[in-house]
Parts: sequence; C-alpha cells; structure tokens
Amino acid sequence: MTKRVVLIGHPVAHSLSGAMQQAAFDHLGIDASYELWDRAPMALAEAVAELRGDEFLGANVTIPHKERVVPLTDRQTEEAHATGAVNTITREGKKLVGHNTDVAGFKVALDKLVGRQKMPRTAVVLGAGGGARAVVYGLIREGFQRIVVFNRHLHRAEGMVKYFSRSAAHMDLRAMPWHESIIESELAKAKVLINATSIGLGTGESPLPAEILSADLMVLDLIYGGSSLLRDAEKAGCATSDGGEMLLHQGAASFTLWTGQEAPLDVMQAALDAARARGVVSAEGEPATPESAA
Ligand code: NDP
Repeated sequence: MTKRVVLIGHPVAHSLSGAMQQAAFDHLGIDASYELWDRAPMALAEAVAELRGDEFLGANVTIPHKERVVPLTDRQTEEAHATGAVNTITREGKKLVGHNTDVAGFKVALDKLVGRQKMPRTAVVLGAGGGARAVVYGLIREGFQRIVVFNRHLHRAEGMVKYFSRSAAHMDLRAMPWHESIIESELAKAKVLINATSIGLGTGESPLPAEILSADLMVLDLIYGGSSLLRDAEKAGCATSDGGEMLLHQGAASFTLWTGQEAPLDVMQAALDAARARGVVSAEGEPATPESAA
C-alpha cells in the first residue's frame, strides 16, 4: 500500500515542501506520496482526524493552521508545546503526535549565520506568526538575553511574548510597536536581525529601509531564495543568510520522523533548487504572488 503524507494548509498551491519530500521518498525507494490538502480552517479538524488511518505516515501543517492544529493532536513534543505551534504530525497507532521541526531547522540556520563567532545574545525579530514562534523559542534556548519583537499588529507580538513568559523568565523578551525609529534604536543595540514576516515573499518589498542596517548586524530572512532585505543587508556589509537552511532542515527532520530514515539532504536540496527554478518561492506553500491567491 502506498503510504500517504499530506501538507495541510490554506492555500497550498505552490509547495517547496512537496518537491523536496517526494524527491526524498523516491530516492530512497519509499512507496509514499506527498499530497497537498487545501483545507479552510472550518475543515481542519476533519482533515486531521483522517490522518489516523493506517495509510498515513503523517503530515506537514502550514499557514494558517500551525497554532490551531495543536489541540487536535493527542500529544505534543517539547518544541511543539513550548512554541504552541505544530508543523509536523506523526502517527503512533491511532494517536497523533504534534512536532515542531521549524525549531530544529532554525537552529541550523542560526548556527550557519553566526559561523565561528561567539553566539550573540541580543536580537530583533520581525513578525509574530508561526515562523516567529520557532525563531523566538530557538533564540531563548540558545541563551539570548534580550529579544525585541516587532509586528504589524502589536497585540499578536504581545500575545506571543506572553506565551513565552515562562521560558523567557530569566531574560528580557518584549514586544514593541512597529515604528521605524524604535526599530532603528533597537537595531543599534542588537547583534542579530531576523525577518519572520512574509514581507518580501514573492515581491521586491523589504520590511525595513536599507539605511537602518549597519555592518555589524547578522541578518537572517526566513524567506527562501533571497530577498530585498538580504540584498540591502549585504550591501551594508552584514553577514546574511536566507531561509534555505531552515526549510531544508525542518523538512529533513520531518522526513526522519515519518520514515525513521536519515534524510537525503543533497537530493532534497536539489529538488528545492529545481522547484525554485520553476518559480516556486514559498517556503510554506502559500501562493507565489498575492495575485495568484485570487
Ligand atoms: P504567519 O502567517 O503565521 O505570519 C505572517 C507574519 O508576517 C505575521 O507576523 C504578519 O503580521 C506578517 N505580515 C504579513 N504580511 C505583512 C505586511 N504586509 N506587513 C507587515 N507584516 C506582515 O506566517 P509564518 O510565520 O508561518 O511565515 C512567515 C514567513 O516566514 C513566510 O515568508 C514563510 O515563508 C517564512 N517561513 C519560512 C520557513 C523556512 O523554513 N524557511 C519556516 C516558517 C516560515 P501580522 O501578525 O500583523 O499579520
């Protein structure tokens, strides 16, 4: 019986995850297919219930369901529990386990960004969605002492900070309103800048004006395949990294959870590159451009 793995999102029109996971199954001769399930929030519970069937190895979960899906799983791993977000589901008999492999993917991306330097302790994070939760939790676990979160809707950033209040009890984690002057003054005190908003995904926009980036910042954009922010940061002399490592390694961790096998990283990377060459830009399965959402 061909096993099934599904990506549940809304929409899930263009999936880089699909390309890399199917390539990995095929390469290792695993009889499994990776399907895209576009499910509106109303249909999420029913879709998740279906995963209890024997033919399913599990699922990926993406925008906008990562937080909503948590109570639909029977058990959560420490990362899923701590972030309040699930991006991967596995099956233990009829029970569903919620995982968050974005945390592991982010760790690889952060290590690459920092390189041989000492791990910094101060960061500015833009965004308060599912991706930002993995980022903030990863930074707390890494020993960061001050993290300032900016988000278009301040209440969402405040909600996230509150959610992490216990894990962050020993350090300074705070939400601030999105004003360029405040961001600029916080960037002057920070070593790491992480864009976890979707600003720039499939567009030439940048969340920040180039002038406020200084050479001693390390800049990570979760968006895969380059962005205006990263181009500006490179010009300013910053160390930079895109979302490629995070995407690859969260996918590799999910693959291993479903199959028990080590992920063929080279094959998955090649599939990502090929999908990207075909114009797929999203790490998460949402449309490549706002227009194609219509
Ligand atoms: P969510 O939908 O959960 O969050 C989106 C975030 O972007 C929110 O903070 C939202 O702000 C902000 N945002 C969106 N549009 C705008 C805008 N026009 N102006 C200002 N802020 C905006 O998405 P995710 O957190 O899952 O994903 C965010 C980004 O990170 C995406 O680009 C995604 O592809 C990428 N990502 C990459 C991963 C990787 O493996 N490389 C893993 C996870 C995410 P608000 O709350 O105010 O709406």
